[in-house]
Amino acid sequence: MQADVFRAWIAASARVIEEQRDHLTQLDAAIGDADHGINLSRGFTAVLSVMESAAPATPGAVLTLTGTTLISKVGGASGPLYGTAFRGAGKALGDTADVDLPGLAAALEAALAGVQRLGAAREGDKTMVDALAPATGAFSKAVAEGASGADALTALVDAAQAGATATIPMQALKGRASYLGPRSVGHEDPGAASTALILAALRDAALAGQ
Ligand code: ADP
Ligand code: MG
Repeated sequence: MQADVFRAWIAASARVIEEQRDHLTQLDAAIGDADHGINLSRGFTAVLSVMESAAPATPGAVLTLTGTTLISKVGGASGPLYGTAFRGAGKALGDTADVDLPGLAAALEAALAGVQRLGAAREGDKTMVDALAPATGAFSKAVAEGASGADALTALVDAAQAGATATIPMQALKGRASYLGPRSVGHEDPGAASTALILAALRDAALAGQ
């Protein structure tokens, strides 16, 4: 997977965030402050415009620029968290021009590590980690077992979606939703939902690039 696939991933992420902006904001209205879709829409719109003028040449540079832009443009918890995730993934890719499946697995592991270093959330705390951690685990396992790209990416997305759905009965222990205590139960976490969308965009971009 070369830089064009990663640019296509970011463009597809921006598209789906735009399409789902109101849905993500509604999820955040239930257990937060009703801005998650707005935050990410603002962030990815800025990423698209920076991407056009900077034209980063390597996969790592695409992801690093995405992360840096999200950190600078998105207020709220999710900007620094997603920004750190993309920057961590970009750093893990280094200056390789063609990313293989183990390389992508390592980048996703680095993204998860970045989110957890910054936000200190564990699985079960009802955050984006509840989508990202099982997705990353499923993808790494599939790759280690020699799965095809299509199968590994399907495992990634299935685990992310299941992880996001699994946040519904959880009580939030991190982030703004944790202020609600038990009243956070019964709602899907917006960050877990957006993570599942962004990882589905990765699958679509990677498979279209094959
Ligand atoms: P804010 O909460 O500042 O309004 P957003 O609404 O954009 O920011 O993002 C909220 C999402 O951020 C939550 O749904 C959750 O997934 C994620 N989040 C919040 N705090 C943490 C954390 N400490 N670790 C991981 N994810 C977090
Ligand atoms: Mg919010």
